[in-house]
Amino acid sequence: MGPPGSGKGTQGALLAKDLGIEHIAVGDLLRAEVDAGTSLGRQVAATMQAGDLISDDLITELMAPKVTKAAQNGGYILDGFPRTLMQAVSARQTADEFNVDADIVIWLDVSPQALIARLAGRAGEQGRADDTAETISRRLQVYEEATRPLLDYYQGRGLLATVDASGDTSDVHAAVMAAIGQRLPA
Ligand code: AMP
Repeated sequence: MGPPGSGKGTQGALLAKDLGIEHIAVGDLLRAEVDAGTSLGRQVAATMQAGDLISDDLITELMAPKVTKAAQNGGYILDGFPRTLMQAVSARQTADEFNVDADIVIWLDVSPQALIARLAGRAGEQGRADDTAETISRRLQVYEEATRPLLDYYQGRGLLATVDASGDTSDVHAAVMAAIGQRLPA
């Protein structure tokens, strides 16, 4: 978990490679639907462009089969999901049904100033439609309102590990691996 620009995508991909598990990045899945012009893509494009969240129902429908399949194949790292309390509760219900549970929730913690600078840089490099100044500020606001409360939820379940994600990619990756090593000794 982490705000936009905290490095979820980069760190998720590195982690999946190191651990040999699947990286399920909701934003990437949604962008692929938009690019392919599917009916789901057409439904979500404007909302993503505005920096708002897609409805919990649509996200749960998209995620449930992917997660349950990955769970049967040795595990997964979720990137960008859950993002609301409702998504977290419904993910837990699905996990309970399949008798699986999250091992760890990693929060990539970065100061708002650093985030804005990173997102502005990414806008130049990747050309993401939702990296405009206006959308960035909306996405940060949505994160504060809808997603930050999940930190308490996962803290309460004893799953949360906070990692300082303001350094460069390899430092953050090392810190993430250390947090996992502490919680899940080999
Ligand atoms: P991301 O690539 O994770 O920054 O996600 C890009 C956009 O996809 C977000 O700004 C939302 O519009 C949408 N999105 C991604 N994950 C979720 C989620 N779990 N719930 C609702 N909308 C999401």
